[in-house]
Amino acid sequence: MIAENLKNVKSKIPDGVTLVAVSKTKPASDIELLYNEGQRVFGENKVQELVDKYEVLPKDIEWHLIGHLQTNKVKYIAPFVSLIHSIDSFKLLKEVDKEAKKQNRIVNCLLQFHIASEDTKFGFSIDEVKDLLSSNEFVEMQNVSIVGVMGMASFTDDEEEVRNEFRTLESYFNVLKSHYFKFNVNFKEISMGMSGDYEIAIEEGSTMVRVGSSIFGTR
Ligand SMILES: *Cc1c(COP(=O)(O)O)cnc(C)c1O
Repeated sequence: MIAENLKNVKSKIPDGVTLVAVSKTKPASDIELLYNEGQRVFGENKVQELVDKYEVLPKDIEWHLIGHLQTNKVKYIAPFVSLIHSIDSFKLLKEVDKEAKKQNRIVNCLLQFHIASEDTKFGFSIDEVKDLLSSNEFVEMQNVSIVGVMGMASFTDDEEEVRNEFRTLESYFNVLKSHYFKFNVNFKEISMGMSGDYEIAIEEGSTMVRVGSSIFGTR
């Protein structure tokens, strides 16, 4: 029962940590069921699926895009997306700024870091992000708001490794906060933790967990 699963996951998440219910591959009816239980924040990793679900479901849902985003698809989500977790290139951020401007919106974004030992996962290095945030081009952007960082830990049973990767992400957040966002109250999110590791992520400072299969079942 997914409503039971939701309750169970929520009971392990402290106040102040946002639960993003990751509904990818699952039908809109499942989302509606959890909506009726009070859940409002949902995450999807594919643009087309996100748009299709947005169109049929209640408009007070906060939709988060959590997966790799191609620049040519930004325009489809710019009108309504409430947070993009997966900004992994300067080119992508510029595109979001451009499309958000057309919609007369400011789109909230997280900078995705590569923290896992596997090299299959997308994301910036800390030096790339420092260059980005120091650039004039970034400073002049008016339609994106960087509200924090995101990362995915390695897919491994080695709890210490996962914990260390989360610690690395938290340290990047702190460096960026003190150097670039000291007086910006909006820069406050650390999106880390999935079904297999969200409890560790919370211990290491996560403010936002992205949980799919523990709520909706296996995909
Ligand atoms: C699928 C996905 C999740 C959720 O994964 P589960 O293991 O099912 O909780 C979280 N984050 C991202 C980026 C994902 O693609």
